[in-house]
Amino acid sequence: MHHQKLILFDFDGVIVNGINEYWFSSKLACEKYLKTSCKYLNIEKYIQVPKIFIEIRPWVKYGWEMILITHEILKIHKPLNDVTKNSFLENYEENCLQLLSEYSWKSVELQQYLDKARAYQIKNDFKKWISLHQPFNEVVSFIRYAKEKNYKIGIISTKSKIFTSKILSKLELFPDLIFGYESGNKVDIISNLSQSYNIRGFIEDRRKTLSNIIDNNQTKFINCYLAEWGYLKNTDKKNLPNGIKLLKIKNLEDLLAN
Ligand SMILES: [Mg+2]
Repeated sequence: MHHQKLILFDFDGVIVNGINEYWFSSKLACEKYLKTSCKYLNIEKYIQVPKIFIEIRPWVKYGWEMILITHEILKIHKPLNDVTKNSFLENYEENCLQLLSEYSWKSVELQQYLDKARAYQIKNDFKKWISLHQPFNEVVSFIRYAKEKNYKIGIISTKSKIFTSKILSKLELFPDLIFGYESGNKVDIISNLSQSYNIRGFIEDRRKTLSNIIDNNQTKFINCYLAEWGYLKNTDKKNLPNGIKLLKIKNLEDLLAN
């Protein structure tokens, strides 16, 4: 059977730079919905995304971690700052879980607060919310071009599908498939898709996610591309295993060559 060709993309860090949106939505969630006994710094003065939030971005997998990190940056007592950053990142996942248990928070609740903060902004000032996302124009053009060439396009986001769709339609991008965090983990999604499509590549800026793809028997044959323009750690580009290639934004069209 001849399967249709499909190219898969991660969303944040690959199609759009959503760091501003993550910061402002997480800050709003901290102010409006998160229950905490910690006192915050003067939140009003954070008009710009703080440098530390950008530096931590490559470690983040799920939206709820953004709220946790924002809370840690904004609290007055023992904040996450340049002094404490390295030790926090050394055991990033454990530290996030440790903080959840210290505050008696659940990751699903934090994710709900983030989604509520987004829904609130969409309702009150949709234009402003959308403007917080900066598209990578080369990627947007490439997706349009690939569609013209009869490739199917799939987007696998760790945001909720509804928010991902809103941003995509504002960019006038209409992919064939959109998956949000509700659809489960990326390995399972791609494994299922590989049953019915000829997957030509998966472009993602989180190296660990790509490693999971090539370490899984169902998906190990997928060509994985690490997006050089995304949120990468300094070490991410080094010693890539077979099966993961570093992709520069100017070389996107190489994906259509084979
Ligand atoms: Mg990403």
